Amino acid sequence: MSWTNLARNGRILVVDDAMENVQILHQALRDEHEVLFALSGDKAIEVALAQQPDLILLDAVMPGMDGYAVCAALDASPRLQDIPVIFVTALSQPEDETRALEAGAVDFISKPFNVAVVRARVRSQLTIKRQADAMRELSMTDGLTGVANRRHFNDRLESEWRRCARANLPLSLIMIDIDHFKLYNDHYGHQAGDLCLQQISAAMKRCAARPQDLLARYGGEEFILLLPQEGPEGAEVVAQRIQEEVRKLAVLHAASPTAATVTISMGLATAMPPLDRQDANALIRNADAHLYQAKQTGRNRYHRD
Ligand code: GH3
Ligand code: MG
Ligand code: MG
Repeated sequence: MSWTNLARNGRILVVDDAMENVQILHQALRDEHEVLFALSGDKAIEVALAQQPDLILLDAVMPGMDGYAVCAALDASPRLQDIPVIFVTALSQPEDETRALEAGAVDFISKPFNVAVVRARVRSQLTIKRQADAMRELSMTDGLTGVANRRHFNDRLESEWRRCARANLPLSLIMIDIDHFKLYNDHYGHQAGDLCLQQISAAMKRCAARPQDLLARYGGEEFILLLPQEGPEGAEVVAQRIQEEVRKLAVLHAASPTAATVTISMGLATAMPPLDRQDANALIRNADAHLYQAKQTGRNRYHRD
């Protein structure tokens, strides 16, 4: 099987202070999975952060940071808390098993290993992980356009707001609304309208490509772009880029009083540091007010402070 196929079957991190155990598990799993290993708890966290495994097989008893401490550290990290952990241990009292499950493990395997059991348990946990990932993805995404949904936007706005407040950085928003979209639907039909929403959102998404930027569908034909760390000038550059991309897309709109093609109006707002005592909702209202101004003054434009 090729490496990419193995990766698709899941990336597993084996953590054990005894090299011999690592080798046995590696042997058992390498035909079906990509296997990484760490010989200590500290190293496990380091590898997990860098490689984002789909599953961790974790030895309970290790010198230094033991399995329970690793579990607690995984749980405390937003980037690691969704990775399932199977405890692997020679301890076999019910209390040990209970303690492992209470620490957040999803399953428990006792030493000495039965290779077939290890394989089966790993496979079933990976299936559950894949389903959970798909659910998470669906719950954060707008079904029609594939961009973030409003709930995901609200979550990210909250976390980015806190991050920018701590780092003394600005944060900008662009509220975007398609012009005369009701007329577009009336003229071309609802299905064409859906297609138009997909094309416009894809074009807008290309305009803000930094990892922390987030485009979300905020309402029917209304979108919002989160631009952490960006001041008014940066936001304006992005707005101009969006306007240009939408213009180049040139989706015909024969019923529009504004232009021959679909256009958008935008409202820009920036919170300048310090953000501590400011209100994210007030920033949204401000962007919305600017969007309203853009509509009032002729559409196909942006408006800012
Ligand atoms: P304005 O330039 O003032 O924004 O006018 P508008 O017609 O774009 O605004 P209005 O809010 O009056 O109408 C929005 C339209 O967007 C009405 C609704 O049918 C359409 N719409 C909202 N969501 C969807 C969708 O998911 N698919 C399609 N095809 N149309 C949608
Ligand atoms: Mg509109
Ligand atoms: Mg609207």
